[in-house]
Parts: sequence; C-alpha cells; structure tokens
Amino acid sequence: MTKKIFTILLICLNINASSQERCGTEAVTEKMSNLYPEYRIAREQVNEQTKEWIDKFGDNKLQNIITIPVVVHVVWKTNSQNISDAQIQSQIDVLNNDYRRTNIDQINTPSVWQGIAADSEIEFCLASVDPNGQPTNGINRVQTTHGQFGMSNDIHTSSAGGADDWPNDDYLNIWVCDISSGLLGYATPPSFFIGDGDGLVIGYRYFGSTGAVQAPYNKGRTATHEIGHWLNLDHVWGGWGSCGNDQVSDTPKQESENYSCPGYPLNINSCNTTNPNGDMFMNYMDYTNDGCMNLFTNGQKARMIAAINQYRPNMLNQNLCSSTTNIYEHQNTTKELIKIVDVLGKETNNPNLNATYFYIYNNGTVEKKIIVK
Ligand SMILES: [Zn+2]
Repeated sequence: MTKKIFTILLICLNINASSQERCGTEAVTEKMSNLYPEYRIAREQVNEQTKEWIDKFGDNKLQNIITIPVVVHVVWKTNSQNISDAQIQSQIDVLNNDYRRTNIDQINTPSVWQGIAADSEIEFCLASVDPNGQPTNGINRVQTTHGQFGMSNDIHTSSAGGADDWPNDDYLNIWVCDISSGLLGYATPPSFFIGDGDGLVIGYRYFGSTGAVQAPYNKGRTATHEIGHWLNLDHVWGGWGSCGNDQVSDTPKQESENYSCPGYPLNINSCNTTNPNGDMFMNYMDYTNDGCMNLFTNGQKARMIAAINQYRPNMLNQNLCSSTTNIYEHQNTTKELIKIVDVLGKETNNPNLNATYFYIYNNGTVEKKIIVK
C-alpha cells in the first residue's frame, strides 16, 4: 500500500516537473481564453489581421526607430528581491542591444542565418514621465508581504500585494518579483482585447545582467524573449504540440524546444523537412541558455512591427522618454487632411484639374498632388 502511494506520488511529481514551463506565456494565454470568450475570439483574429498588415505594409522601411517607454514595478519582500537601479538599467541595455542587433554575441549566429538576422528597429527607455505627468525614473518599488506570485493576478493588483498597471496603452509594464521556482517569466500577447496586467512578469533572478541574476539565465534574455511574446511572436517551435507553426516563414520548422547550449547544426531534417541547417536554437524565442541566444529574424521583426502598429499604436508617437520623441510617418497611420493649398500657398477646397496642390495632414506629412480627374 505504501509502495503504491509512493509510486503515485512519484508520477505526480514527474508530471509536475515535465509540465513546468520556464516561460508561462502559453499557459497564461490558455487561462485567459478559458476565462474570457472575447479574449479567445480576439486572439484568434490576430494571426489573420497580422498577415493582412504584413502583406500590405511589411516591406515598407520604417522612417524612425520605435521607442517603447517602460515602467518596471519591483515588488519585493526581501532585500535581494529589491533589485538595484543598476540591475534594471542593465536589462534596458540588453533589450536595446538585442532589438537593434548590436548584441556582441551576434557573431555566434551561424553564417547561414546571418543574412536574415534582424535589426528590429525597436528601442526601450525607462519612462521619464508618469501617468500623472510627473517626472519619474520609470521604476516603481512596492514592498509586499506576498509570497511567490506564480502566474496569479495578484502581481498587478496593489490591494493583493502587487502593483497596479500604469496605463498599458502607453507603457510597457514589467513586474519583477519572486515568481516561483522553474518559471522565469511570462507575457501577454497582443490583441484588441487588452485587460489589466498587460505586460511582462519576470523573476528577479532572471532580470538584467548584473546584481541578483542567476546563471544560466543571467544575461537578460528572459525579457528579450517575453517582449517577443508581448509583440506577438510565438515560440520558434510553434508552441503547443510538436512541429507547430510560429507563423514566421524564415524560421525553420522545429519539433520542440531546446535547452542548454547545443552545437550547430542540431536536429537536421526534423518534422519531415529537408533542412540541412536544423533548428534555429539560438533564436530568442527558443528555450536555450541566455548565453546561447543571439537573434530575431526579419520575419519575426515584421510581426513585431505589425503588432505595434495594430495593437499598441500609442507606442508609435509618445513623449514619455526623456531623450526621444517618436515621430512616425507610416502610410497606414490614420491621418486627417487639414488643408489643401496651391503652389502659391493659397488654401482651397475645390482643386482645379491638372494643377498642383499640396495636401497637408495632421501628422505633419505633406503630399504633392496633381488632380487629373
Ligand atoms: Zn516563451
């Protein structure tokens, strides 16, 4: 009898160990889908809407780098959880290097993929203006008596021992806390359904590249990975099940996640493909060690840029970072015609045929038009 119970216990432990994901994003998405039917529908629409956007605008070169204002909520109980400003800044630095492809380990990307490795043209700043318009360093420290947060909503609820969101249309909220053992972090993917708690939750030992960080997740790549999810990237193996689809054409099909630090090439011709290069295990959206990740691809970049334009448009034109103001002029941004003037600068509402006019829009763009019909 004792033996039987022991065996059952062992099986349970095994299930727990194997189902414990280092990234909780898929689990959170599933939980939200079950709780809110509207969320499920909104998420189902995302892939289609994204494909449409990329087909229409994907090849257009951005005119400006997009800078995303970040607030870091440090929810701490012990002194080591109250991570230093330097640790937080080190994470921002990692993000800027990874998303601009100025990471020094980019040389480790196998040469077959160097040509599709992307400068994602996205940067990050610690917010310099808070939701009340007051100056801030972008760090919100909250002492708590709460134990490990896991994937509970408590983390973004101040009355439950967490910290409330800053408006998530305007800021990327990142909560850093004692999350739980084995789980490094999770994020909320975008859709037209955005509720409380939009952003990232990351364990304090996996945030940044100095201070309380713990190898092998001590180079800030957990946040790089989770922001990938927040900007609509799937795991490079396509998530649930094996040989899934990550909706990105330039990442090879891959059977499942990789851990540790494999050698190249790995798992060639997997998933019944002819793929001599094998898994792109050094992609930020795999599960390898921080020190072995080094790229996003052009296809992933297109999805992230689409996600910002469609679901997080306030990030395109914000003034919450002290040193940068995004001025973004892209064809798809909704712009309103302010006035039409002729070549002499005279305003008109009735342009004549075959004459030149300037159409002035509220986003600062001007189009020269000759009305032929
Ligand atoms: Zn993930």
